Amino acid sequence: MIEIEEAQSQIIQAVSSVSETENIALAESLGRILAKNITSEINVPPADNSAMDGFAVTASDVTQSPCSFSVSQRIPAGSAPSALTPSTAARIFTGAEIPENADAVVIQENCEFSDDQTVTLNISPSKGDNIRRQGQDIKTGDLVLSSGQKLSPQHLGLLASIGITHITVFRKVRVSILSTGSELITPGTPLQPGQIYNSNQIMLAQLLGSLGCEVSICPAVVDSLEQTIQRFKDASATSDLIVSSGGVSVGDEDHVKAAAESLGNLNLWKINIKPGKPLAFGHIANSKFLGLPGNPVSAFVTFILFGIPLIKTLQGQNHQKPMSFFLPSNFAIDKPRRRPEFIRARIENNAVEKFPNQSSGVLSSTCWANALAFIPDNKTITKGELIEVFPLDLLQS
Ligand code: AMP
Ligand code: MG
Repeated sequence: MIEIEEAQSQIIQAVSSVSETENIALAESLGRILAKNITSEINVPPADNSAMDGFAVTASDVTQSPCSFSVSQRIPAGSAPSALTPSTAARIFTGAEIPENADAVVIQENCEFSDDQTVTLNISPSKGDNIRRQGQDIKTGDLVLSSGQKLSPQHLGLLASIGITHITVFRKVRVSILSTGSELITPGTPLQPGQIYNSNQIMLAQLLGSLGCEVSICPAVVDSLEQTIQRFKDASATSDLIVSSGGVSVGDEDHVKAAAESLGNLNLWKINIKPGKPLAFGHIANSKFLGLPGNPVSAFVTFILFGIPLIKTLQGQNHQKPMSFFLPSNFAIDKPRRRPEFIRARIENNAVEKFPNQSSGVLSSTCWANALAFIPDNKTITKGELIEVFPLDLLQS
């Protein structure tokens, strides 16, 4: 038996990121992984500007309250101001550049003005009031984003704010998926006796797709060593990674281990975890290989725990431990478990519920759940006790 963290770290250490990069338009780069550090060539904002609609003045000119000024210019956002005439005020709007010599903005709610000629300030401003300073967000020369960053919409906004149009990202990781099992058929044909629909294929394909991989689906194989070897051979020619489901145990009808070993090298792990004890990891020719268990819930959970760190490392992402929280349990576990367990759980009203049927064949549990809750081995849980939960949205992103 090998522990969860040990398996994860062995996987990460055995893998390095794809080396090829590509230069793409910012608008095409959502979800991609930055392959170079980005420093800014400009200040953001480029100049001091007004945070509010009001009047720009030199604070030291306001010697009493109230205090009247003639209005010497009008500065809407987008225009270039002239230097402020001494002892006057400038009408100014949010986002407009602060004119030279001005050092405070009095918001219009604190002013009386009936025409564009004069204004009476009802307060004495302090230097810097309502001014957004040049470079308050980013300064010229700042490191804005580092290589390995996965790009979210807000990262793209940040890059646009420094004027970037194209960036260098790692190429997409190519992954082939292979389902094994003579009982599997693709939805679209009625089930014959003994058959079940292949649910892992679409689930894994979409998990991989949503992580930003280029996914190829191999036709499912029956439980035959020759066919499994042939599919692995074909897939390895075009893939960085092959992910299989099923056939990974050591029964008479399980051929994944022998097939992978005949073409590469494999570790077959009995991981100290429920669901999903058997897991295979190694390589087939030049592709990395991850062999998941066939039970759909086990395939899902082991993909999340081991497949995602593997994919992120291949993609060039910096690895971070998934975020977890401790919340009170709404259920009790009286009988300690022999293996640590990730149960399908739902966070509701800041407490954790558990799906009644935790069988690894019950895929409904993963749809009802919005989190996995970690139950350590050899431990009872009392109702109300804090337990560790991993929200699925965070695990899957
Ligand atoms: P295996 O790991 O091949 O022993 O499969 C374990 C269980 O998962 C068996 O009940 C299989 O029928 C089922 N299973 C395997 N692969 C799939 C799949 N792609 N979709 C749905 N169920 C599967
Ligand atoms: Mg099977």
